Amino acid sequence: MEKIGAVVLAAGQGKRMGTKVAKQFLELEGRPLITYALEAFEASPVDEVVLVTGEEEILYCREKIVKAFGFSKVVDIVPGGRERCHSVYEGLKAFCRRTSPAYVLIHDGARPLVSREVIQRSIQGAVRYGACVAAMPVKDTIKIGDGDGFVSGTPDRAFLWQVQTPQAFSFRLVYGAYERMMEDPGAQGKITDDAMAVELATGERVKLILGDYQNIKVTTPEDLAVASLFLQGVTVQIP
Ligand code: C5P
Repeated sequence: MEKIGAVVLAAGQGKRMGTKVAKQFLELEGRPLITYALEAFEASPVDEVVLVTGEEEILYCREKIVKAFGFSKVVDIVPGGRERCHSVYEGLKAFCRRTSPAYVLIHDGARPLVSREVIQRSIQGAVRYGACVAAMPVKDTIKIGDGDGFVSGTPDRAFLWQVQTPQAFSFRLVYGAYERMMEDPGAQGKITDDAMAVELATGERVKLILGDYQNIKVTTPEDLAVASLFLQGVTVQIP
């Protein structure tokens, strides 16, 4: 069986949350938010997890998260970088210092509701296509704005997807893409997800696989309330 790795991202300040504690460590239903994603990978076919966090949070993560919750698949905890893309690169490099996995899933630790099914589909997508991202059809109409705050265009909604994580790849493909991106400071500012690094650096096609509308990224305080409701199993009753 080929080895599958996961990079779980928990660096960054999360300024949009407006709290002193970074969003990935806020309490959610009685325990730190980051524990939910780590628990999902612990219970998945993923073999090894690298956790990326802030330099000053490594000890806390080791003692109060990984040891305290018994996450046995976490093989390394490494400091992240300035932007998300730099943190991903640090996570991938940590795998290179060990035996690199054949496939890697990259996941925002700020998405606590990632399900077993979405992880499973991501692994299958990486094996089959080499590169895939969890995504859902957008519900709203999306506008492109010009520099003056006026609408300059309306893309056809039928072709629009909101992209989530995990994003899953052949390790060699995504690592090569990031290595190339890291040599190009101009590109780094533009990279908002891992698929983009692969698209720009390699031109490889990235498959869209089905995510989950509950797989939200906790970014602002209202997201925390929504995540709590989902975790309590509150679902909408359709009459
Ligand atoms: O800031 P954003 O919401 O895009 O962050 C998405 C994920 O990337 C979060 O889980 C956050 O912890 C992580 N991140 C990181 N390093 C950064 C910025 C964000 O690991 N420099």
